[in-house]
Amino acid sequence: MIGIDWGVKETATTTSDPHDLPHPEHGKKAQAKLARYDRMMARRKPEKGHHASNGYQRAKQGRAKAYKKVARQRQDTARKWAMRVVADHDALAVEDFRPKFLAKSTMAKKAADAAIGATKQALIEMGRKHTRTVHLVHPAYTTMGCAQCGARVKHALPLGMRTYTCTACGAESPRDKNSARVMLHRAGLHPARVDRTRPSEAPPREAA
Ligand SMILES: [Zn+2]
Repeated sequence: MIGIDWGVKETATTTSDPHDLPHPEHGKKAQAKLARYDRMMARRKPEKGHHASNGYQRAKQGRAKAYKKVARQRQDTARKWAMRVVADHDALAVEDFRPKFLAKSTMAKKAADAAIGATKQALIEMGRKHTRTVHLVHPAYTTMGCAQCGARVKHALPLGMRTYTCTACGAESPRDKNSARVMLHRAGLHPARVDRTRPSEAPPREAA
């Protein structure tokens, strides 16, 4: 079984280190190209009632082509990764993250969200095709629970805090790894063999 948490720096952080998926770097170059076309289009935007200039049309075509390329690369990376994850695991606990694509979010955030969207979709399809059990876990609170003892901290971790320290049992782990493990718990899967560093399986309890 595998627990999967989605993020910006790493598209997928999982309970299995070899299956972690870093945010694809090829997306960065392509995103810069997209942004350049966007600026070109903005500069050449036709005034109301005027025909679009050739320059504007060219920029628009260039943008569409660049966009297609990004989508294709994203799709390709997502499918290859999903294939590997499904081949190596019987049960998947996946954060049910839904990207919002807010207009005011940054380019990097948009790219990360698009990568997550495509990767999650590919994983669900691949899992279905190979009759794996795919648990979709509601994303709320997953960064607040302790994967070691099951305790929940009172406040959400600030985004800048990369290490999760449990106030109940003292366990420390990288934030995203902890979240990936929490996915397994929330899906009702008990990763006795996934987490070999765990000293003992303590019953889940709530922090005071
Ligand atoms: Zn704990």
